[in-house]
Amino acid sequence: MKLNLHLGIIFSLYSALACSANSSFEIQTWRDGAKAAHTIAHDDYCGSSVPGVENTALPILNERGLKASLGLIAGSCKDNDWTKLKKHIAEGHELFNHSLSHVGMLEAGSLKPIAGWNNEKEIASAHQLVKEKLGYTMQFMAYPSDLATPEAKAYLLTLPDYLGARAAKHIYDGSNAGINSSNNTDPFFIKNDVYWHDGKWSLYKPTGGNMLIQHVDAALENGGWSYRTMHGVADGSWEAVPKDEYIAYADYLLKKVASGELWLAGPSEIIRYQATRENCPLVLTGNALKLKQNNELCQRYASAITVDVQIADELQGQFTQNKKPLTSKKLANGKYRIQFNPALGDLSIN
Ligand SMILES: [Zn+2]
Repeated sequence: MKLNLHLGIIFSLYSALACSANSSFEIQTWRDGAKAAHTIAHDDYCGSSVPGVENTALPILNERGLKASLGLIAGSCKDNDWTKLKKHIAEGHELFNHSLSHVGMLEAGSLKPIAGWNNEKEIASAHQLVKEKLGYTMQFMAYPSDLATPEAKAYLLTLPDYLGARAAKHIYDGSNAGINSSNNTDPFFIKNDVYWHDGKWSLYKPTGGNMLIQHVDAALENGGWSYRTMHGVADGSWEAVPKDEYIAYADYLLKKVASGELWLAGPSEIIRYQATRENCPLVLTGNALKLKQNNELCQRYASAITVDVQIADELQGQFTQNKKPLTSKKLANGKYRIQFNPALGDLSIN
């Protein structure tokens, strides 16, 4: 009896100590604690070969509230394309640079370097045109056929608006296919998987089931980011995705997004998140969460990342940044989830 009493007192003291512990925090690998990230990309928008992106793919995605990214051949966009693109920006889809004229394609397997490519024309003037027509700043580049000379890649790095690019080589051998790891990813070499009916140069084969779904599952299995490249859907475009396969993919994405397992977003949003996590180290001093040290990469990429904060017992669970309240979501046991951009100022926890 006496022993039990003593143990009880010791336990109470221990609990009191545990409760008065300082606040602590945990950065989520992906937005809202998702296990993996995924990007839907349709190339060649404004090109005459992919009417299925506008007529089939986007309605299927919009019906389900899923966001895609569209690679523009900007020099081919007509007035009605610009009008549609304005709508797609408002719907939350990302636009990325897929060159002005799509020049420079090589036959698969060719070792010949890109010919007839001009960086200023194909990259910078395409960028400028979209800015002028839509007031939209593209931040991601996908070279035609994912082929690029070292000079083109170096040129892209000099453009301050660009945060990343799809993995490109000067040889088409499929070795830039893959899943991006959750850390240490080069934002200018984002691996992807291109849809081919027979799985050529792809990580997947149709014998393994729907290849689009296989790529989603691969990210969920290793906690990384899988980027899906497609052309049209149910049209005459190069390696077009059949409509039933696309619907199954969209339904699967919706299920995984709704369960909280998957974060579906355009490339620049995911690159920003990942780069913020890696380049903006945080420190908790007293009840203030702040940047441990600022640096150029943090400034360039910083965006809101998901941080779970375990608050000290005496605190109320109120968060302010620059004297303005920051919205939080209450999780269990004194834990709160916030979307915090550390480059915008310190966070006070009260
Ligand atoms: Zn293309």
